[in-house]
Amino acid sequence: MQLTSTELGLAARVHQLTKTYGTGEGEVRALDAVSVGIRRGEFTAIMGPSGSGKSTLMHIMAGLDAPTSGSVWIGDTDITGLSDGELTLLRRRRVGFVFQAFNLVPTLDAAANILLPFDLDGRRPTALERARIDSLIDTLGLRDRLGHRPHQLSGGQQQRVAIVRALATAPDLVFADEPTGNLDSRSGREVLGLLADASRTHGQSIAMVTHDALAASHADRVLFLGDGRIVADKPRQTAEEIAAYMLAAELGTVGARA
Ligand code: ADP
Ligand code: MG
Repeated sequence: MQLTSTELGLAARVHQLTKTYGTGEGEVRALDAVSVGIRRGEFTAIMGPSGSGKSTLMHIMAGLDAPTSGSVWIGDTDITGLSDGELTLLRRRRVGFVFQAFNLVPTLDAAANILLPFDLDGRRPTALERARIDSLIDTLGLRDRLGHRPHQLSGGQQQRVAIVRALATAPDLVFADEPTGNLDSRSGREVLGLLADASRTHGQSIAMVTHDALAASHADRVLFLGDGRIVADKPRQTAEEIAAYMLAAELGTVGARA
């Protein structure tokens, strides 16, 4: 008998996940039989060279893209068996994401973008949610930008709006692809603090792709991808340790694959 994700303490997991793009000569294997779980209440960083499959893994785990083969669970639900409608509802209620390709609605101002998950769900934020949103807006310095539409905001401001939106409903699971990529170092630190706090204080499960060793040093766990496979899975480390590992991996002095 297989244990459920809940019994395993996992908020999401994939088993023997493979994703290929194209066919024949042009086939690219973006993910190659990846099996990994995102632990409940943990802040997990995902690192790896460009093209190693990080974004593909995040998109598939968040139910935004379908695998070529393998299984994907969000909580105890195998999402590969869901209809589009069921998947949309599950995502809306349980998952927050900050992805470059799924960003803000250009015709809505920042406030309306932040409230979008509630509108789509046909409800208003509760008093508690309102207080959380207000606090996120203040922490990320967006108070005087709420009436602006995305094109009136800098890249960093747009990214912060997307982060408030992703955290507004306090979803069980948050996926973020380079959430600090466009931010100055102070805003970056605020965002990392919010993500760490979401897991530590609120028990949310966070998976964050980053290139930045300093950003990854805020995480409880660091997964390294290489050529579509998980090549290392490490507990919390310092930025220096992470940077040293990445450098060694680039030089090919580690990475004899398990
Ligand atoms: P990362 O986020 O680590 O940079 P990606 O997951 O974006 O890597 O990409 C992994 C591999 O899959 C790369 O070789 C990339 O070129 C390829 N790839 C990603 N998306 C597509 C796509 N839509 N069509 C074809 N190839 C893709
Ligand atoms: Mg990517």
